[in-house]
Amino acid sequence: VGEAAITCISEATGVYGIHLVDGTGKPVVPPDVQPDPVEISFQVVHVRLGSNSILVDAGLDDIGTDWGRRFAEAWHCRRTPGLIPGLQAIGESAESITHVVITHAHFDHIAGLTVLEDGTYGPRYPNARVFVGRAEWEANSERPNPESEVARRLGPIEAAGLLTLIDTDTDIAPGVAMVSAPGESPGHHVVRVTSAGETFYALGDLFHYTCEIEHLEWVAPWADAPAMVQSRRKILDDAARSGALVMFSHAKFPPWATVSLDEDGFRWTELKH
Ligand SMILES: [Zn+2]
Repeated sequence: VGEAAITCISEATGVYGIHLVDGTGKPVVPPDVQPDPVEISFQVVHVRLGSNSILVDAGLDDIGTDWGRRFAEAWHCRRTPGLIPGLQAIGESAESITHVVITHAHFDHIAGLTVLEDGTYGPRYPNARVFVGRAEWEANSERPNPESEVARRLGPIEAAGLLTLIDTDTDIAPGVAMVSAPGESPGHHVVRVTSAGETFYALGDLFHYTCEIEHLEWVAPWADAPAMVQSRRKILDDAARSGALVMFSHAKFPPWATVSLDEDGFRWTELKH
């Protein structure tokens, strides 16, 4: 994308039933827009642009840990070698990461932020500043519980002085912006990369399934539906207008797509491989 090298690293893939509600909270039975159950992935994006090496979300904890074993039992998915080997494959390392942008503080996006050593969680990316929406941390009801995922993952980052809380759309590096998109959670952000006239959006959990793009009012049961619909309209409008490359965290790997707008609404076009 322009001068930026964008890489998607999948950490796991599983097959799950589609679980959505409509604007009134009623469960949605998706028509034949998409197979059900559907294959989804757990994915992290890496952006190399100039001297900056940026991770969008920190993904899962390592396979060999207690966390990794509990995740495997709960989610019945196939793990890849993981994020660090993926980074090494593109010439990066935990030390080379300069920024970690957290789209939102759900467990599958933050668990990889810290690593357990001698019974204590510490930053996995020692040279990276971590950016997250203020509401994801300060107003998080799980934060007071030291055993919670947010406390274990964001707490050590704050203690190390590496946490930056975001209140509004923010440029975190030249060409890389966090754009407010609440709904999945109160402080959810997407990441926009612009370089040499080209645009890329990492959409985080703005969508979980492609059928939601044509039904903007279909959301996960825990989402704030009106906020979600507003965020989706705003971001998809810009993505369609700019001809952006787009992806969302749980799209089937490889997740690359483009968005267009016609009289019936938005269309999601997966890139052919
Ligand atoms: Zn997620």
